[in-house]
Amino acid sequence: MLTRIDFRGEPVATLGVRALAGMLPRAELDVEAAVATVRPICDDVRERGAAAVREHTARFDGVDLPTTRVPREALAAALASLDTAVAAALREAARRTRLVHEAQVPAESVTVVADGSSVTERYVPVASAGVYVPGGLVAYPSSVVMNVIPAQAAGVARIAVASPPQADRGGLPHPAVLAACELLGVTEVHAVGGAQAIAMLGYGTEDCEAVDTITGPGNVYVAAAKRLLRGVVGTDAEAGPTEVAIIADGGANAAFVAADLIAQAEHDPLAACLLITTDHGLAGRVDAELTRQLATARHAGRVKEALTGQSACVLVDDLDCALAVADAWAPEHLEIQAAGAAALAGRVRNAGAVFVGEYAPVSLGDYLAGSNHVLPTGGTARHSGGLSVLTFLRGIHVVNANAAALAHVAPHIEALGGAEDLVAHVRAVRIRVPEGTNGAGVVAAAGKGPAAAAEQLPPLRPDLAGSSPYGAPQIDAPVRLNTNENPFPPSKGLVREIGEAAAAAAAMLNRYPDREALGLRRDLATCLGHGLRAEQVWAANGSNEIIQQLLQAFGGPGRGVLGFEPSYSMHPIIARTTSTGWIEGSRDAGFGIDADQAVVAIRELGPDLVFVTSPNNPTGTAVPLSVIERICAAAPGIVVVDEAYAEFARDQDATALAILPRYPRLVVVRTMSKAFALAGARLGYLGADRSVVEALQIVRLPYHLSAITQAAARAALARSTELLASVSAIRAERDGLVSWLRARGLSVADSDANFVLFGKFADRRVIWQRLLDQGVLIREVGPPGWLRVTIGTGPEMEAFRIALEAAIA
Ligand code: PMP
Repeated sequence: MLTRIDFRGEPVATLGVRALAGMLPRAELDVEAAVATVRPICDDVRERGAAAVREHTARFDGVDLPTTRVPREALAAALASLDTAVAAALREAARRTRLVHEAQVPAESVTVVADGSSVTERYVPVASAGVYVPGGLVAYPSSVVMNVIPAQAAGVARIAVASPPQADRGGLPHPAVLAACELLGVTEVHAVGGAQAIAMLGYGTEDCEAVDTITGPGNVYVAAAKRLLRGVVGTDAEAGPTEVAIIADGGANAAFVAADLIAQAEHDPLAACLLITTDHGLAGRVDAELTRQLATARHAGRVKEALTGQSACVLVDDLDCALAVADAWAPEHLEIQAAGAAALAGRVRNAGAVFVGEYAPVSLGDYLAGSNHVLPTGGTARHSGGLSVLTFLRGIHVVNANAAALAHVAPHIEALGGAEDLVAHVRAVRIRVPEGTNGAGVVAAAGKGPAAAAEQLPPLRPDLAGSSPYGAPQIDAPVRLNTNENPFPPSKGLVREIGEAAAAAAAMLNRYPDREALGLRRDLATCLGHGLRAEQVWAANGSNEIIQQLLQAFGGPGRGVLGFEPSYSMHPIIARTTSTGWIEGSRDAGFGIDADQAVVAIRELGPDLVFVTSPNNPTGTAVPLSVIERICAAAPGIVVVDEAYAEFARDQDATALAILPRYPRLVVVRTMSKAFALAGARLGYLGADRSVVEALQIVRLPYHLSAITQAAARAALARSTELLASVSAIRAERDGLVSWLRARGLSVADSDANFVLFGKFADRRVIWQRLLDQGVLIREVGPPGWLRVTIGTGPEMEAFRIALEAAIA
């Protein structure tokens, strides 16, 4: 039955793809001729909208519909009356197709091309998609699945389906199509077919807003209309008559091969079927099977037309030649029923989809494999793939560069812009990084050109490229309420004592200081109370250094630390600089930590460290001890409670110091920068099990605490009662401020610290600037819309209140 094309003894592999393809049969589809026919219809819909759609529908489909929109009840009714076996099959098809297509969505990728310069690739779905589903004699609910699911997996928000109205069904599309839409959750379905449907989707009408991308199969007029609208909307590939190539050797099952050829031919008298075989005997057996099976085939007429028309049996010398023939023809579907099928499949270059072995027929792919059945035809598989989530996504490059990175490539941009005579391009770069600067505002070394200056950029670790240093602005404003310092300077007496202690230390500055800072740690232990001894206390240059040492000892490459954001911004920064993975947990709407969620996250992620800031910066929120205990019980590693603001808490018993004896991996971090009013001395400390302290001694630099620091801190600690006296005044000022802000209708986070987070402002920057213009510097930090103000002295807070009233008026 199949025409024989005998390539045996021919140098198939060297013939060249185009020449070889020219020797193989395939029906042509003249879409261009149809374009002339559909152009007036599409123009009419563009100009007159729904009225034009209505007239063309009456003319072509014999129904007069006041609106194309199919009512929701019709969708639900169609699904309710769908055969249960068909419904179950569609559900399973949808499940598998969804699995495959969700896996296709490309992850966002960040490529660091040089220090300070990166390109992020984001895939963003189109906002709306139109899916055309042919109706008429045969309706394919599977087409609904194959088009709608990739769009859904891509994240397309609006999907409109169009399918021809049926005169004998009251003008509704085929019920199987409606049922499939309902099953997939598509609610916008239009009863309209042919070119007018494509024009409606592309241009929009009163019934249907224009979409961004149109996909779906259809007849030659649908294809022509899509060709016309390409450019106005995105479209999928043009579908021609369907086709299959089957590579088979002598071991193939002739009955299976014949059944697959007939299955393909059943679609369309123009379908093309190619059997490519190395075995003359198999060719004969398949022919006999075709005759036998055709006798009982349901669509024998069109099957025979297809098989005796643009179909053939190609005889080749070996499987390499078979592969060369298949690649040249570039079939929509390629089956491989030959020894070593999987290996051969791995070598296929051109095919829409490949079906491996005798138990993966095209029929599986048409319905249930999970793969997409909308595939390139007519040899377009040489350059295109099938329908996928990518049809509905656009890759967007997000380009980031800092000044130094731009300066680094400026000479290259100059060279290329010059060569293309686009000097404004060059100017747009040089206006930012003038020649002779390195982008950091620094003039390049004398005598060396800009290229040389750029070359001198240090080779920063790629994972730090693009990072900026911690940067609370140090602006010399009259009222500085931006870094949570204590507004009360040390008393004259204390200043004198610190000076005397520093002078005594200075007398021995030729010697290194006490490496273990034992005296200081003893004093700190006494001050902390809770039965702590010196060996359970560690000190460093600010609690920032304590945190850094904790991450150096317990974090590092391959390890992760979980924090609950919004929180202290240095935690993720120090994690990054110590190459510890930062795991961003979240706080609830009131900035608290949900213990259940935290425990689940800890169990799932198994972080090496957990950071809890309490009271939290920048929100001021205290975390109850019960929550910290739940976290300690669940955490597999170190739990760090950053209590930089503990002294300001309303509940002084809520400190994690109280539960230290029960949790040997709990670390409580404190600082002298806040309540002790000693930010300038740089002294942070912790209480923990002594094994934790011993671990930190491994990573600390020798003599990290200067003799002056130790002396100053000890002098201050000797007067700790006096120092902490300001705390109650600050607390009272804070509580007063919270009430005052709330009375003005502002949102204010409950605060147990020496600052208050308030908002929310549509543009917080404007408020921040207005305050600064009046001499009050606060901090633009925290979730969008919020601002943080540190509690200052009474007069400072009065200045703040006056400035804020003016700023928000
Ligand atoms: N932890 C928290 C929560 C903080 O807010 C700060 C400073 N703002 C620190 C630690 C670090 O403070 P220092 O290094 O001055 O002790």
